Amino acid sequence: MAQTGQERTDTAVVDHGGGVWGIKVPIPDNPLGHTLVHVLDTDRGPVLVDTGWDDPASWDALAAGLGALGLAPADVHGVVITHHHPDHHGLSGQVREASGAWIAMHAADTEVVLRTRSAEPGVWYDYMAAKLAAAGAPEEHLAPLRAARRAGRLRTLPGLRAAVPDREIVPGDLLPLAGRRLRAIWTPGHTPGHVCLHLEEEHPARLPGNGRLFSGDHLLPGISPHIGLYEDPTDTRVTDPLGDYLDSLERIGRLAPAEVLPAHQHAFTDAPARVRDLLAHHTERLSGLWHLLAEQSLTPWALAERMEWNRPWAQIPYGSRTIAVSEAEAHLRRLVKQGRAEPVPGSDPVAYRAL
Ligand SMILES: [Zn+2]
Ligand SMILES: [Zn+2]
Repeated sequence: MAQTGQERTDTAVVDHGGGVWGIKVPIPDNPLGHTLVHVLDTDRGPVLVDTGWDDPASWDALAAGLGALGLAPADVHGVVITHHHPDHHGLSGQVREASGAWIAMHAADTEVVLRTRSAEPGVWYDYMAAKLAAAGAPEEHLAPLRAARRAGRLRTLPGLRAAVPDREIVPGDLLPLAGRRLRAIWTPGHTPGHVCLHLEEEHPARLPGNGRLFSGDHLLPGISPHIGLYEDPTDTRVTDPLGDYLDSLERIGRLAPAEVLPAHQHAFTDAPARVRDLLAHHTERLSGLWHLLAEQSLTPWALAERMEWNRPWAQIPYGSRTIAVSEAEAHLRRLVKQGRAEPVPGSDPVAYRAL
């Protein structure tokens, strides 16, 4: 993610009215700070939208937040997950253990959870190393991956023990929540199975617009979410995550919710304006990249080195460089799909040129 916006430092539990609360659950050692876990009151008990990072301090914050509402983790009736990332799905297993709650997720992200859990040790590192080499990464970027594989530091990655959801979120369907109308909207892009959840009820303060939207990481007030390639060692389909994301953004803009309750930062209104900003940002970025490719053909790695980030490339830490290259690849994929760029025949690692 790029460009953290202005952060509000209010209390750990925010009452959004109409039986909806937000609990700040910290993400350890992360500039994002916290995940906003939402609590939705239903006739069968509280339902959580996302759960937070799998860490004892995060669990304590979640339990304390529920406690401030007169609830305990054992009371949770169900868990609705916007996407599989560990800052959203990390604590789901512990919530289910404490309460017997069901966990619902879109099938495409459940596939990622299952694949990650069942991956042979080392497959992931081999896949990442091959992918980065093909993108033009230099040897000094690949060496730590190989060293980690040799040292057996494989079982410490987040997500390897993520809870397997027991319910599927079907796009367009109402979730089975007693006394509430919560509809799933599939918004792929940030992940293949990202969903937003639309609370089809009048805004408690009667703000104009169409209900409220739990937007996960899809639409955030001051951050442009990371859009990289969907990582899958077994999938050979040529996907277009940035194209998916831009389409999903337009979908949410047309929905025009009265208020957006995102999973990071803070609640906000005027979703269509935020959507327009993000669409403009990506349009500008794509033409910026096109101009770079018009000067000379570039590998995804070389392109990432020349793209604008929130700091100079030399200061971008190792893990963030991997993410940056994936973002460069997603933009290249989009330019190719638009017919504005193509791979240079015979180049290895593959370089792209503008058309
Ligand atoms: Zn995410
Ligand atoms: Zn997130």
